[in-house]
Amino acid sequence: MLAARFMDVGDLRLIEEDVPKPGPGEILIKVKAAGVCGTDAHIIKGESSSTPPVILGHEYAGEVVEIGEGVTSFKVNDRVCVDPNIFCHTCYYCHNGNIHLCLNLTALGVDIDGGFAEYSVVPAAQAHLLPPGISYAAGAFVEPVACCLRGLEQAQIRPGDEVAILGGGPIGLILLQLARAAGGRVTVSEPIQAKWDLAKELGAERTVLPEELPVDAFDVVIEAAGVKAAIEQSITIARRGASVVWFGVSPQGMRAEIEPHEVYRKELRIAGSFINPFTNSRAVKLVGSGAVRVEPLISHRFPLKDIHEALAVHSSGKANKVMIISD
Ligand SMILES: [Zn+2]
Ligand SMILES: [Zn+2]
Repeated sequence: MLAARFMDVGDLRLIEEDVPKPGPGEILIKVKAAGVCGTDAHIIKGESSSTPPVILGHEYAGEVVEIGEGVTSFKVNDRVCVDPNIFCHTCYYCHNGNIHLCLNLTALGVDIDGGFAEYSVVPAAQAHLLPPGISYAAGAFVEPVACCLRGLEQAQIRPGDEVAILGGGPIGLILLQLARAAGGRVTVSEPIQAKWDLAKELGAERTVLPEELPVDAFDVVIEAAGVKAAIEQSITIARRGASVVWFGVSPQGMRAEIEPHEVYRKELRIAGSFINPFTNSRAVKLVGSGAVRVEPLISHRFPLKDIHEALAVHSSGKANKVMIISD
């Protein structure tokens, strides 16, 4: 099978490999759709940790083609999506209800072979059945939607709140829909105006250039770009008493300048948001029911053999979701 294996910084290699066999408790899926994520780009640049050599791709869905010993929850031909994050269930954090902060966290597509391949072995416990009628491409969005649901928990939006989302990429547009569902009135800040129409179609009250955002104006600010200027701006545009969520994945080592006195004077609550604790099955329902619309977020589709071009399009910043699709 063809697989895109991350070997070392700057080296993602297309390799012909044997199709892996599912072990006890595992299933083999034929990958049908896999989303390209900012995290993949960060890993390749050496800006985010991983365990190479490893097949990247952690947002994916496919068809079950083989069942490992002892698996009773799935059968061949089932359509599934994958929760890539695997917890140890034995460390301090797992024992205290914060499984996503697990000290021994590993993830498919980061530390264990993932979805940028024709086939992928997945522990049965990490797979979720796709509701009938939803496409594999939509199924590949369950993981990012699950992460955005965690972001929403951290944001604590109340109905009527003025919410700013900094970044109108696929993550920003998922957060937009969830913030609207929570009753927020959402302003999306996005420098590329070509992305504004979709943001409006998906419920944005206003779309603005970053420099047009008013200061001291928002009850909730969600940074969804992972860039220095937006992190810094998230503090200045927050109203007194606001909550600020730094959702976007900033490159490791990046620094931002904020004025602690402003955080003190406004009594801001600043929260991070990390992966998807107990949000996956809700994400399946939201995507499956169409309550969160994900198909319009796909701007480009590539076959796996064109993964390098797909990554280049992703990194241009002009695309929305870039999806690797197989037939
Ligand atoms: Zn991702
Ligand atoms: Zn743990």
